[in-house]
Amino acid sequence: MMQKLIQHVLYPLDCVRSGDRGILQYRKALEASQYLTGPQLEELSFSRMQSMLTYAYEQIDFYRRRFDEHGVHPGDIQEPADLVALPVLEKQDIQNHRDELISREYSVADLVLDRTGGSTGKPIEYYYTKDRSHSRKAATWRHNGFIDWQIGDKTAVLWGAARDLPKTRLKQKLRNYLIDRTLFFNTAGFQPDEIDHFNQQLKQYRPQAILAYANSLGLFARYLREQGIQAYSPRVIVTSAEMLSNETRQLIEEVFAAPVYNRYGSREFSVIASECCQRDGLHVMQEGLYMEILKQGKPAALGEVGELIITDLLNFGMPLIRYRIGDAGAWAAGECDCGRGLKRLKAVAGRTTDFLVGQDGRLCSGAVLTVAMVAQRPSLGQIQLEQNERGRIICRVAPPGGTICNEDQTFLTEQVLQYLGPGTSIEWDIVSQIDHEPSGKYRFSKSTLTDLF
Ligand SMILES: [Zn+2]
Repeated sequence: MMQKLIQHVLYPLDCVRSGDRGILQYRKALEASQYLTGPQLEELSFSRMQSMLTYAYEQIDFYRRRFDEHGVHPGDIQEPADLVALPVLEKQDIQNHRDELISREYSVADLVLDRTGGSTGKPIEYYYTKDRSHSRKAATWRHNGFIDWQIGDKTAVLWGAARDLPKTRLKQKLRNYLIDRTLFFNTAGFQPDEIDHFNQQLKQYRPQAILAYANSLGLFARYLREQGIQAYSPRVIVTSAEMLSNETRQLIEEVFAAPVYNRYGSREFSVIASECCQRDGLHVMQEGLYMEILKQGKPAALGEVGELIITDLLNFGMPLIRYRIGDAGAWAAGECDCGRGLKRLKAVAGRTTDFLVGQDGRLCSGAVLTVAMVAQRPSLGQIQLEQNERGRIICRVAPPGGTICNEDQTFLTEQVLQYLGPGTSIEWDIVSQIDHEPSGKYRFSKSTLTDLF
């Protein structure tokens, strides 16, 4: 009852009152377009890509210069395969040329300033239009709707990045009480007594949805199970911000007795792709983003893991064109049984910098490897694999008792050699604790090697 009132009355009224009617308009359009056919959506997305290229070439000297340097004109881009002729935008380009990337049609005062968490180095600052903030919010609600998570549903958020947590001004508290109905919990530096406290809060608040960092919720679930504490069971759980392994998904589902849906998003683009009820890949927000998957600079085949390159199709204030986001993934084949035509990512394989490489060039997702190893041998505690040179791995372990037993050491060595090839050498680093990144994310592996994809 309350949820319906919020969804159909309070939320729309608040949008109109605050000048955000655009959210409602985008929402309506996105609800309809998700059921276009695959080819129709591809055509829509690609024609928006072409428009964005033309716009950027005309309104932004940075892009005109770059395209000219590469000897390519927007008019040359007639089909998706032509896109590889265009330069890729690196994070460093944004750091070095932020203001040059702003369209001359906009002034900074008209735009929303945002920044990334900087977990892979210096944070990136960028701008987007008010209109883009509307389409971002609408897209998030559209994707929530995939699993029947609606505006007005009570929600609990377990988030690691403190600056994403809400301000506590009275007006915002009131809005949260009446409309957003969200209970926030900061998972950075999660201690057992805080977990107990949060678990109590969940039971009192009774949210329909939980949105969480995948590994934070995994840790939460593991703790509850070990302590024999009964968990609160919401209707749906959405994990994001960190890679969700099969092991972690299974653990969370068992402990919370609720289905887990994976989501891929980023600060630069907001929601990028989400699982629907079928859980057979993540539907991409194709109306607002043009996604390419590249392997050695060429479009990857279906199912082949490559680098994700993303263009924002709706941010004309500061267009990000062919942006190397630093994540890897693969396209899913076939159509989804839910009936949506939106393209699907089979999985997001993690950050490109999380991949480890064997002497012979074979690639392995460090996150997949470490999670599988710990699942098989919980006595290992936490592990992090680091690579700074080919054929050599630093194996960082935080064993619960402070020391690692011979069996565990042998097991780890065998696993690393199996996945990365027999020529790999291992250096041990036994520590008391493996810290989260400043962004609040836990990194299973990290590599400083480049050109792996
Ligand atoms: Zn689907």
